Amino acid sequence: MCCDGTLFDNVRLGADEDAAAVKALGLPVRFSRAKVPVAFFRQPCRALGADCTCSVYANRPAQCRSFECGVFKAAESGDIGYESAHRLVKQARKRAERARKLLRKMGERDEGLSLGARFRRVQRWVESGEVDAAAGETFAALGLAMHQLDLLAHRKFYTEEEV
Ligand code: SF4
Repeated sequence: MCCDGTLFDNVRLGADEDAAAVKALGLPVRFSRAKVPVAFFRQPCRALGADCTCSVYANRPAQCRSFECGVFKAAESGDIGYESAHRLVKQARKRAERARKLLRKMGERDEGLSLGARFRRVQRWVESGEVDAAAGETFAALGLAMHQLDLLAHRKFYTEEEV
C-alpha cells in the first residue's frame, strides 16, 4: 500500500538525489512548478511488481529507503503483535478496495493513478454539477470510504514525517 497509490500520491526526490539516474531506472520523474522545483514520481509506482516486490530495490530513492510505516514500526518494536499488524493491514486494504469499487461505479477506472488523485478527479466532476442524484449518492458513499481510509492511515500507518 506504500507503493501502489493507496497511501501516497507520489515519491519526492531529495535535492541531492540524481533525478536522471532515478529516471534511468524506469521511474517517470517529473519536476514540480514551484520556485524551487522538486523532483518526484507518481504512484502507483512502476517498479512495484505484482508480487509486491520493488524491481529497483537496491537503487530505490531515499524516501523509499527511509520510510517505515507506523504499523511496521509498532510490530517490530513489540508494541503490537504481528497478528494485530496483519489485521490493520487487512482493514486498510478492505477500506481501499471499497473506495476503488465506488470509484469504478462512478466511471473512474484509471488504475494508473493514485487513489487520492482518482478521488479528486471525481470530486471535480461532481463539483461541476454534471452528475445525477444516483451518482451524487455514490459520491457521498465514496467520500465516507475515503475518509475512513484516511483516518486509519493517519492513526496507524503514517509516521510524523509523512503527515
Ligand atoms: S521505487 Fe520501489 S520502494 Fe519506491 S515506491 Fe517504487 S516500488 Fe516502492
